[in-house]
Amino acid sequence: MTRRLVQGTRLVVASHNPGKVREILDLVAPHGLSVVSAAELQLPEPEETGATFAENARIKAEAAAQGAGLPALSDDSGLEVEALGGAPGIYSARWAGPAKDFSVAMQRVADEVKQRGSWKEPGPRANFTAALCLAWPDGEVALFEGKVYGHLVWPPRGTRGFGYDPMFVADGHALSFGEMEPYAKHAISHRARAFQRFARACLGEGAAG
Ligand code: IMP
Repeated sequence: MTRRLVQGTRLVVASHNPGKVREILDLVAPHGLSVVSAAELQLPEPEETGATFAENARIKAEAAAQGAGLPALSDDSGLEVEALGGAPGIYSARWAGPAKDFSVAMQRVADEVKQRGSWKEPGPRANFTAALCLAWPDGEVALFEGKVYGHLVWPPRGTRGFGYDPMFVADGHALSFGEMEPYAKHAISHRARAFQRFARACLGEGAAG
């Protein structure tokens, strides 16, 4: 059985990405934990050398748990485009270059799909995936994954969210993630789905599933 986080526990959010930290803080807020980010604790960012979202999430959570001596929750996530064989995937952040400019990353996704002749309206199939890892300072880890499926749009739409949000429309929705209110994205996102699994297992929210 997965070890639980009791109310009042100090939890490190093991991310230096302000967009992700904001979303994880929103998700954790109702659960009575005291949350601090890896950036606030000035923890170094480990190199993401894993081959999967889960491996990279584990690397980040373990580094933060060891560095802080506290349980740490990390997120490794990205956009997977079917016509690109799942790219950019674990390289989603890296496609934005050193300046972390996601207009560049989104343009590259659109260009690569179009170069392959795969851009068919209403837009190529894609999904976001998030792997959340809870690591304890004694080495115990638990992993949770969530996905949201949809299609890409071009040009990008909306200024909310972060990363590739303006070019992604979830199935059954008309607005892009960049146009949605944060609460609406939180109701359906890959991160929220992984978080629900984490909450059931580690925060005592009913049966795991
Ligand atoms: P990493 O997990 O820190 O390697 O970075 C994941 C990257 O995937 C982010 O920098 C974003 O570009 C992208 N990404 C992950 N989740 C989302 C999301 O909810 N919306 C938009 N982009 C996302």
